[in-house]
Amino acid sequence: MGRIKLMGLAVSIGKVTERYPFAPVEVPDDYRGKPVIDPGICTGCGACASACPPQAIQVKEEGEFRVVHLFLGRCIFCGRCQDVCPEGAIRLTTEFELATPNHDDLHQFVRLRMVRCVRCGRPFDTYRHLVRSLREVPFIEGERLLLCPECRAKAPLDWLEGGGDGNEG
Ligand code: SF4
Ligand code: SF4
Repeated sequence: MGRIKLMGLAVSIGKVTERYPFAPVEVPDDYRGKPVIDPGICTGCGACASACPPQAIQVKEEGEFRVVHLFLGRCIFCGRCQDVCPEGAIRLTTEFELATPNHDDLHQFVRLRMVRCVRCGRPFDTYRHLVRSLREVPFIEGERLLLCPECRAKAPLDWLEGGGDGNEG
């Protein structure tokens, strides 16, 4: 294409560059920007941490609390966490300007109090997740849901040894 023709084409197309960063730029609604956890909804189930390819989300237990830790420095904005969260508690926002001089800005922590097993006393689940489980599996009787997985696994044996009614003593 000749130079004159090329210039004519450029003039007919007009200005295509954005004024960003001197003016805000529009992004699509489904843009995959900064993930944010709603601490009022998250149950600490850990599904997002299991699905996160670069392990940007980690779940740890610290004493009486389960802590969901999201570190944006590792995030690849894939959206897997949002896809798997059963509560809709983690969402990718349209925010993309994440550069910061403050390292703390790259971390989000959600701290959830845990329930202790009524038999061995070990913290094993968050209150919020337990309440959620009670709604989902009403057929599991009271005490069994208050047992940690290990004590729950032994519970059928206790039931047999106890003569069939599941009561101790
Ligand atoms: S968007 Fe992807 S990489 Fe980022 S926290 Fe979610 S699952 Fe992990
Ligand atoms: S999957 Fe959702 S509810 Fe479960 S820990 Fe992650 S953000 Fe919280």
